[in-house]
Amino acid sequence: MKKVAVFPGSFDPITIGHEAIVRRALNLFDEIVIAVGANALKKSFYALETREEMIKKVFQNEQRIKIDHYEGLTVDYCNIIGARFILRGLRTSADFEFERAIAQVNKVMAPDIETVFLLTVPEHSHINSTIVRDIIKNGGDASIFVPVAIDLKNYKIEEE
Ligand code: ADP
Repeated sequence: MKKVAVFPGSFDPITIGHEAIVRRALNLFDEIVIAVGANALKKSFYALETREEMIKKVFQNEQRIKIDHYEGLTVDYCNIIGARFILRGLRTSADFEFERAIAQVNKVMAPDIETVFLLTVPEHSHINSTIVRDIIKNGGDASIFVPVAIDLKNYKIEEE
């Protein structure tokens, strides 16, 4: 059976930390679906379509990576598309505590689905989308934190 993993997240915007986790996970899975969580109630910095567009640009030459979005529970989405793995990245012990609770609850709700964690490389442990947004909001250059394929000038901001 094809090993399909879902990499869920906000990706607002995608960073080099996300990109590295996905590229490393290609050695573990046959297919990775990068699934942008759509939350109708929460205003994002980049619109959902913009976030998906950026991710598509980064992985445009990678046949085994698909990009999608979903609403609701990640385990429900996994069941709908037939994915048996959830991929998450870990940076810090705070990430671990947060992720542990989610993964354990997911395991109760969907016993067949395994959450797989990859520990970030040290160079990426300080990088997150919030910092990237703050730099952009304040007119700084965030390009070193986003994948090389992305030119931030080309993407419209939804909310300042
Ligand atoms: P969420 O809102 O679900 O936390 P994010 O887009 O912030 O979504 O992150 C998606 C996943 O990528 C999470 O598992 C997160 O821990 C991981 N991640 C984020 N930044 C990094 C990084 N710099 N290195 C490794 N993993 C990361």
